[in-house]
Amino acid sequence: MREFKKSSKLDNVLYDVRGPVVEEASRMEAAGTQVLKLNIGNPAPFGFRTPDEVIYDMRDQLTDCEGYSASKGLFSARKAIMQYAQLKKIPNVSVEDIYTGNGVSELINLCMSALLDNGDEILIPSPDYPLWTACATLAGGKAVHYICDEKSEWYPDMDDIRKKITSRTKAIVLINPNNPTGALYPREVLQEIVNIAREHQLIIFSDEIYDRLVMDGQEHVSIASLAPDLFCVTFSGLSKSHMIAGFRIGWMILSGNKRIAADYIEGLKMLSNMRLCSNVPAQSIVQTALGGHQSVNDYIVPGGRIYEQREYIYNALTDIPGITAVKPKAAFYMFPKIDVKKFGIVSDEKFALDLLREKKILLVHGGGFNWGQPDHFRVVYLPRIEVLKEAAGKLKDFLSTYHQS
Ligand code: PLP
Repeated sequence: MREFKKSSKLDNVLYDVRGPVVEEASRMEAAGTQVLKLNIGNPAPFGFRTPDEVIYDMRDQLTDCEGYSASKGLFSARKAIMQYAQLKKIPNVSVEDIYTGNGVSELINLCMSALLDNGDEILIPSPDYPLWTACATLAGGKAVHYICDEKSEWYPDMDDIRKKITSRTKAIVLINPNNPTGALYPREVLQEIVNIAREHQLIIFSDEIYDRLVMDGQEHVSIASLAPDLFCVTFSGLSKSHMIAGFRIGWMILSGNKRIAADYIEGLKMLSNMRLCSNVPAQSIVQTALGGHQSVNDYIVPGGRIYEQREYIYNALTDIPGITAVKPKAAFYMFPKIDVKKFGIVSDEKFALDLLREKKILLVHGGGFNWGQPDHFRVVYLPRIEVLKEAAGKLKDFLSTYHQS
């Protein structure tokens, strides 16, 4: 019998956020075991609801959304995103520079496919949101990871970035606010990255899907606002800020010096045309979502769920002997460090699997985020405090006897 193998293009592609540990959890659930899930940034199942007006608006418009839209998206959606770009001081943006997508995910894939020839290099953070590395690799490019430094609030290490630039480096990716660390980069850090990109003529891709989930009175700055002379692509969407990850709506904004990227932009247009358009009902609510009540603002202040859950998980986990963490400032993730010597850890995936099998807690190991050492894991703190409390208690209990051999 003929056997069908996956394409060799996938040989080096990793996407462990939904990988083997998650598959084991699904098997356990299918067998009737209840698993505490701290593994995925999907707000709705944890009781976060989108504002009613967004739902009513989609319902009212549904019959007008039966056909395809223009490839880049509905005018009303793109106009609202353009105004959002203006508020964020992103320069030189017209409606034509905005593309909607089935989530930011589709647009990341599109941008990498349109840019990278075999062997072209792109700088991607480590740890990263692994879709960036996966899409760059799938496109034939080489993902070169620059270190984000835990000792400096998880900010990008500028010396490491500089060291890793070669004549084949085409672009740098930034994830700000960051998944998985929860870091938020201040203006000075962004300015340094702009200086490097300017010096080496790099495109800046900035994934800002968490830009409205920023705590402690901090301000989110779009790096594109600091780089009018460079070509920048800024990504955001409604999955996280409006708790509608299932509707699949995201966008990208091309800005700055578009002249130098004219040919690349032709490629982006072609790929955008080829997928016809993104989900039209989800596009139809962008204007209401961006302009209306921002319910997310209630969650990120003292007394709000995301804020209080962060306080709880940070204190509870850093209380466990052998665990340390940088307190996250944004999004809903934390990336704690685990003392590998104390627990004899050589494989972080095994650590995650052992914890899952013994305590029924699902976390993603640091390796799933292209982190090179087995000494971190990611926690999603979307579940309610009662659930976080149970998980932290079980983790503490597990670690009181754990030693990986
Ligand atoms: N970028 C980052 C940093 C993310 O964390 C995620 C989802 O978790 C995405 C992009 C994908 O978002 P979307 O739902 O818009 O595809």
